[in-house]
Amino acid sequence: MAAIELRGLTKVYPGGVTALDALDLVVPDGEFFALLGPSGCGKTTLLRTIAGLEAATGGAVVIGGRDVTGVQPGERDVAMVFQDYALFPHMDVADNIAYPLRIKKVPKGARRGKAAEVGARLGLDGLMDRRPGQLSGGQQQRVALARVMATQAQAFLFDEPLSNLDARLRLEARTFLKKLQRELGVTTVFVTHDQAEALAMADRMAVMEAGHIRQIGTPAEVFQRPANTFVAAFIGSTPMNLLDATVRGDTLEVAGCKVPVPASAEGRLQDGERLVYGVRPEYMAYSDGPADAALAGKVAIVENLGASYLVTLDVGDVAVQAVVPEGREPAVGSDGHAVPRRDRALVYRDGELV
Ligand code: ATP
Repeated sequence: MAAIELRGLTKVYPGGVTALDALDLVVPDGEFFALLGPSGCGKTTLLRTIAGLEAATGGAVVIGGRDVTGVQPGERDVAMVFQDYALFPHMDVADNIAYPLRIKKVPKGARRGKAAEVGARLGLDGLMDRRPGQLSGGQQQRVALARVMATQAQAFLFDEPLSNLDARLRLEARTFLKKLQRELGVTTVFVTHDQAEALAMADRMAVMEAGHIRQIGTPAEVFQRPANTFVAAFIGSTPMNLLDATVRGDTLEVAGCKVPVPASAEGRLQDGERLVYGVRPEYMAYSDGPADAALAGKVAIVENLGASYLVTLDVGDVAVQAVVPEGREPAVGSDGHAVPRRDRALVYRDGELV
């Protein structure tokens, strides 16, 4: 087991695309770290560069204190699980699991023993002589995990390993994978474009944009205090309300309404200053009747989220969203008031959290 350290890591592809722009990152020993970001931001490139499948064009990759920047993939002591699992169709489950050990020239008896042990741990005991084509998606995924575990690598790298599973299996696999990582305590970097997955599984996470890391933190930190408006808009199953605001003494003028300056920005704003006010729909209280310090408007849309509803209010010419518990959802066209939680509201100056 080992920490992964990236120092000024840069990858410019031959065509001139800068996929990684001087990234610095430390993933401590034993951590489950998620990489999240929109399509094309460089997640897969980052993972492949750690694995050695792509050569860095600048900077260094250090694993367990060893600079592996110029080291071949097979010599880096990391194991990678790909999105499509990359199982060998002509080999049975046992041989697939044992394949990395064969490459390392481990004798056949020991290989079989290890494959059986790891397979049993992942609930594959009855399936060891099947071929991948005779397995479900979830079973194939477990074979790919078993193969990674059999290698006893210093670090695991996962590239969207759950994306080929249907929604229910995906939830099961998520819990299973998290538990397994805890038990093994192996440093893990996990790429996903599914933020619910990152929030649920990671000890810490990074949000990337165009080859840069825009925020690193625990899922709670990233969700509750996005460092900039990019992360604020990207994270959350319903996007954060990001509204133009002007400072008026100890209040903010937002869409013609007055709300208090958020607790986190108190005493740090200048009168008359123009900012962006951010509140998650989950951190809005909702009231049918008049309310103090509220964003008052007309209900434009009511969307069913299951146990709650997402209500969109037209406040002047600005749309404001609030999550309302089931049973309290308003009628479209009625008057509504969204009351931001002062301890959860945020203020952004030039796109950065104040
Ligand atoms: P996705 O979520 O869609 O998989 P990603 O965040 O993993 O995206 P990458 O695949 O790392 O993004 O790509 C980062 C950037 O590098 C993109 O602009 C992409 O077009 C470019 N890129 C990736 N692979 C190559 C390549 N082999 N040659 C040239 N450019 C590439």
